[in-house]
Amino acid sequence: MNRAEEDYLKLIYELQVEANKPMIKNNEIKDAFGYTDQSVNDMIKRLNDQKLVRFIPYKGVSLTKKGTHIAVKLVRAHRIWEVFLTKHLNYPWYRVHDEAERLEHASSEEMVEELFTFLGKPKTCSHGNPIPNLDGELPALNDFMLMDSNVGDTFVVERATDDAYLLKMLDDYKIGLNAKLHIIEKDSYNEFLKIKTDKKEVILTFSSAKKIFGRNIKI
Ligand SMILES: [Zn+2]
Repeated sequence: MNRAEEDYLKLIYELQVEANKPMIKNNEIKDAFGYTDQSVNDMIKRLNDQKLVRFIPYKGVSLTKKGTHIAVKLVRAHRIWEVFLTKHLNYPWYRVHDEAERLEHASSEEMVEELFTFLGKPKTCSHGNPIPNLDGELPALNDFMLMDSNVGDTFVVERATDDAYLLKMLDDYKIGLNAKLHIIEKDSYNEFLKIKTDKKEVILTFSSAKKIFGRNIKI
């Protein structure tokens, strides 16, 4: 099992779980990685031959039990390392992904479990994504988007998509997990939200607001 193969399994797992879909299309993998059709098709065939994924022409691909097991271990290691980096090395949340990406492939299962205990068994990563248990079980994902909030609502951030540009921008605006955002304008024509944080007013596009998840609270 090489790193590229592991990365595919992890991506398919994340796409399946996050979107709650039974099958993932080759195109979605291509878009996420930015690879060519040919290389995605070749890799899917290789993973299919190793019985790590099941490929059905025109339908897409899903993980087998064996593939899921490997993907879960990687996702778990990734998210646990992220917690370590933000909590103990003071990494900002937009910088942990690449480091965790390398560490997840290099650490033994035993070490990851030691780290998990050391960190006090966190429930989520630095971006609010749940850490799957060793059986691959994940709590149900809250998929209420900031985009779904309306003028007058107060929204609490609980999770953000692991997208470095988005995370960096939010960090610049001092918006992190548990930040309270008051929606003061929703402009559907120009596709932006104007929100007020504790500190200032900020404009977020609808496409960013679809990558931020949480809940509305009463104040
Ligand atoms: Zn994360």
